[in-house]
Amino acid sequence: PALLELIGVGKRYRIGGESIRALDAVDLTLTGGEFVAVVGPSGAGKSTLLHLLGALDSPDTGSIAFRGTEIGRLDDDAQSQFRRRQVGFVFQFFNLLPTLSAWENVAVPRLLDGVSLRSAKPDALALLDSVGLAARADHRPAELSGGQMQRVAIARALVMDPPLLLADEPTGNLDSRTGAAILDLLADIAHEAGARRGVVMVTHDERATERTDRTITLVDGRIGADLRSERSSG
Ligand code: ADP
Ligand code: ADP
Repeated sequence: PALLELIGVGKRYRIGGESIRALDAVDLTLTGGEFVAVVGPSGAGKSTLLHLLGALDSPDTGSIAFRGTEIGRLDDDAQSQFRRRQVGFVFQFFNLLPTLSAWENVAVPRLLDGVSLRSAKPDALALLDSVGLAARADHRPAELSGGQMQRVAIARALVMDPPLLLADEPTGNLDSRTGAAILDLLADIAHEAGARRGVVMVTHDERATERTDRTITLVDGRIGADLRSERSSG
């Protein structure tokens, strides 16, 4: 079954009197268990698409259904509720809180539910273990390497157990070997858990498409290519 189904999705930005078409009649179905790369030249609409998938913004035209429920026209409160429950976000520069330890950073999204740090700790530690960082749980971001910081950020993105993980240039600030390991981790996350979770990544990383199940190329706000890799996701 589809995780996300986009039909005729269009998005314009208005600056002054000018109107820029960022996405133009995009049709797209994403399913759980897929590790998807969105690639294309600068200005093609990649960030705009990622923002719409994560309900950070709304389309002007068309519909976006998440597991059959329209999310394209939610009000601000419902959008933020959707993001908190259904989406994990991973960023190029990690966006960790510098004064908190690794496990506290992972636990932060739980605090908004009124869960105490203490009661969120076991899950946070288990998640850090699952991304290979059990030994760094008490370290602050400044004491971690870039790859380790990204692992903390990925663990944080998973702490609410979201069915959708969105990543914006997750390897953009990492050397190639470290970046490759992060791509492998994101692939594992998409493929585990009975294919319940989809992972969508905007990337300029040339090696990324060797590890994804599917590569969508955007050109001028339209899907120019949508290729599945031979390698099965199992
Ligand atoms: P990409 O991520 O592929 O570089 P974007 O989605 O950021 O592309 O941008 C697509 C088009 O929309 C570009 O022409 C960009 O300048 C424009 N755009 C993106 N975000 C905004 C915004 N907030 N306000 C105005 N124009 C925007
Ligand atoms: P990325 O490098 O991830 O493609 P961008 O540099 O395109 O991101 O955009 C960074 C942020 O600025 C995004 O939130 C995007 O919506 C916004 N943005 C992009 N282009 C414009 C623009 N022309 N005017 C205003 N905001 C923009």
